Amino acid sequence: MKTLKIAIQKSGRLNEKSVELLKNCGLNFENYKSSLISPVSNFPLEILFLRDDDIPEYVQDGIADLGIVGENVIQETEVEVSYLQRLGFGRCSLKIAVPNTENYKDLSELHGKSIATTYPVILGKFLKSKGIQSEIRTISGSVEISPGLGLSDAICDLVSTGGTLKSNGLKPFADVMSSEAVLIGSKGSENDDLIKELIQRIQSVLRAKETKYVVLNAPKAALEAITALLPGVKSPSVVPLAEEGWVAVHTVIPERDFWDRISQLKQAGAQGIVVMPIEKIIL
Ligand code: ATP
Ligand code: ZN
Repeated sequence: MKTLKIAIQKSGRLNEKSVELLKNCGLNFENYKSSLISPVSNFPLEILFLRDDDIPEYVQDGIADLGIVGENVIQETEVEVSYLQRLGFGRCSLKIAVPNTENYKDLSELHGKSIATTYPVILGKFLKSKGIQSEIRTISGSVEISPGLGLSDAICDLVSTGGTLKSNGLKPFADVMSSEAVLIGSKGSENDDLIKELIQRIQSVLRAKETKYVVLNAPKAALEAITALLPGVKSPSVVPLAEEGWVAVHTVIPERDFWDRISQLKQAGAQGIVVMPIEKIIL
C-alpha cells in the first residue's frame, strides 16, 4: 500500500494548530521538533516538517502529496496546486500600512511611493489591478521597521491584531488579501481515495469545532418555542424526564451565535442548560 506525505510547518504560527488538527483526526505520530519526517502509526501517512515557504513547491512537485500552509504563501509562490479545504486557523490579512503621521486618503496617493514587503508578487498584482505604480522594495523580514529607518514610505505586511504596526508608529491603510491556513494537494490529488478519507476526517473535526452539544430541561408547554430556536443536525431529540410534564432536549448549536441562542432558550423556558464540546461530526 502506498504511503501519503503531508507537509506542515516545522515551527512557527501554524505548527501547533496543524499538529492538533492531525491528532484530532485520530492520527498517531510523534511530534519531535528535531525530526524532518514522522511516520503515522495508524494511517498510511508520513508527516514532513518544513519551513512554510517551501511547502507549496514540495506539493506542486509531488514530493509531498498534501500540505498545510497559509494562502498568502501559496499565492506568493504562484504554484499550481489544488485547494482541498480551508482550515479556519492562521487567519491574518496582508495590508498596506503607512506612518501615523501621514494623511493619505486614497490608494492612488501611493503612486510613486516606495513600499517595503516580503510579498512582492501579491503586492505587485494588487497595485497593477489598481493601476498604481509604486516602487516595491523586497526585503526578507522586519518589514515594519523600514519606514522608521527611511527605507520606504509604506509597508505591505501580514497583520492579525495590528499590535506590531502600532508599536512601530504605523497604521493600516489598505487591505490587499485575507488569508487562513488551507489544505493543499498536488494537482489531481482530490481524486485519491486515501486523500478523500483524510479530507473527510478533517471536515468532521472542523464541523465539530463549529458546534456545541447542548442538553437542557424544559416544561412540555415550552417545547414548541424551544424547538423553534434549535436547528440541530436534524431535529432535536426530546426525552421525557421522571418529573411529570418535563422533558430533556438534546441538540447541537453553532458556536458563532452561541450566547444569543442560549439567552433566547432561557427566555423560552429552558433550565439546567449543559453545554459540551463535540469531538467529531460524521454526516
Ligand atoms: P518559517 O520559519 O516556517 O518560514 P515564518 O516566520 O515565515 O515561518 P510565521 O510567522 O510562523 O512564518 O507565519 C506562518 C503563517 O502564519 C503566515 O504565512 C500566515 O499565513 C500566518 N499568520 C497568521 N497570523 C499572522 C501574523 N500576525 N503575522 C504573520 N503571519 C501570520
Ligand atoms: Zn516562512
